[in-house]
Amino acid sequence: MSEADDPERVLRCAALLAAQAMGRVRDRAVEGRLGGDNLARRVAALFESGGGQSAPEVLEEVAALLGAGCVQTTHPAYFGPFHPGILPEAAAAALLVAAFNPQLATRDHAKAAHALESRALDWVARAIGWEEHAGHFTNGGQEANTEVLAAALAQRFPRAREEGLLALERPPVFYLAAEAHHSFDKAAQLLGLGRRAARRVPVGAESTIDVTALQSAIAEDRKAGCEPFFVVATAGTTASGAIDPLGDLADLAARQRMWLHTDAAWGGLALFSPNHRDLLAGIERSDSVTIDAHKTLAVPLGAGMLLTRQRDALEAAFGTQSPYMPGRRTDQPEPYQTSLPWSRRAIGLPLAVALAVRGAGAYTAAADHLMQLGAILRERLLRAGFTLHNHTPLPLVCFDHPRRADRGLSPAQWARRSNARGRVWLAPTRLADGTTTLRATIANHRTQVEDLDLLVEELRLQLDA
Ligand SMILES: *Cc1c(COP(=O)(O)O)cnc(C)c1O
Repeated sequence: MSEADDPERVLRCAALLAAQAMGRVRDRAVEGRLGGDNLARRVAALFESGGGQSAPEVLEEVAALLGAGCVQTTHPAYFGPFHPGILPEAAAAALLVAAFNPQLATRDHAKAAHALESRALDWVARAIGWEEHAGHFTNGGQEANTEVLAAALAQRFPRAREEGLLALERPPVFYLAAEAHHSFDKAAQLLGLGRRAARRVPVGAESTIDVTALQSAIAEDRKAGCEPFFVVATAGTTASGAIDPLGDLADLAARQRMWLHTDAAWGGLALFSPNHRDLLAGIERSDSVTIDAHKTLAVPLGAGMLLTRQRDALEAAFGTQSPYMPGRRTDQPEPYQTSLPWSRRAIGLPLAVALAVRGAGAYTAAADHLMQLGAILRERLLRAGFTLHNHTPLPLVCFDHPRRADRGLSPAQWARRSNARGRVWLAPTRLADGTTTLRATIANHRTQVEDLDLLVEELRLQLDA
């Protein structure tokens, strides 16, 4: 393929479009209005000339489509689930990753990329409280949670590595709160455990796992001939921001000889501020932790992280030898031998670059800012007559208004009508007690108090309409 355009011209154009996308995000409707036939026509038009357009022309139209035909997750008045403001240097690093395209499947093939990623991973591990760790960047929390479950399974049931789960006399089961993320359903099915092996434990009044019920469930399963091996603590549930009692779960996991995994996909945010680290006290006692950089650390999708103290378990799950790859030559396995993906993108580079540019202190300030906005939003909502329906100190607020039902509005309609005006965006959620409320999460460091006021104003408008 010959170059259609001068590479420098193409990439300068992309950089300019990206800068404009960031700089002018407030000028765009949060929920892009372009859709239906108009969108279909414009997409079709891009391909009609069969290659007759310049790269800048195509890129400009693609940027326009992304700006008008998607929900603008980077908008400061976007209150949907967990999308941060993207740092320009993180976006720039993603472009460099695409241009150099280093292959991280093995260590020697991409020494520099590994060295940079390691700095970022080590920083996160220290925030957890670990000096020693294994782990890697993943494409997201689903991937990290799946890999961790595979690792715990391989460690506990070595026989199943060759012979499969059917060779086991006692079926393996694991535990998680009714509120825990449903990525574990997928993982349980994928790994051959079956979805029923994921034992959902009831939650208490604050939507956190009921440890007594958990203990009973484990005892019953043991009596029934099952083998409990793994328990999930969620630090910041997706629906309501609930933080399971990490210390109690660590005690229980130790007593019961079970692997404790903490899913801190977005609640991990609190780790980066000494002022809020206490919220996750005990997380350091987990065997493994999931944190999504793409939710908490101002880098683009998809950048998750899996960190574990069980160095050998990842290799037990994913280790393999092949004639066309370097084997295990050092005291460390190669990256392709400790994770599900084979080829690996330099997923962690945007975070490494952001850390080098701003230092860890910037993340502390951002975490404090988000936590404070959460508190302010709760206060603003109460003052405006709304009712709060969750208990977390994290910046996630589930709320309703006494007038909402009188107006015959469902929470989903309320959100849809508010979103349709384009100034804010949020979504409903279903809570553990079965009620549906609206949910606002604050994950963007560029969000300001005025954005919170705008949210309250837009929601009230629908009540008064
Ligand atoms: C978002 C989320 C996940 C899934 O992560 P992805 O990055 O979307 O794959 C898992 N667990 C929790 C608690 C989450 O909030």
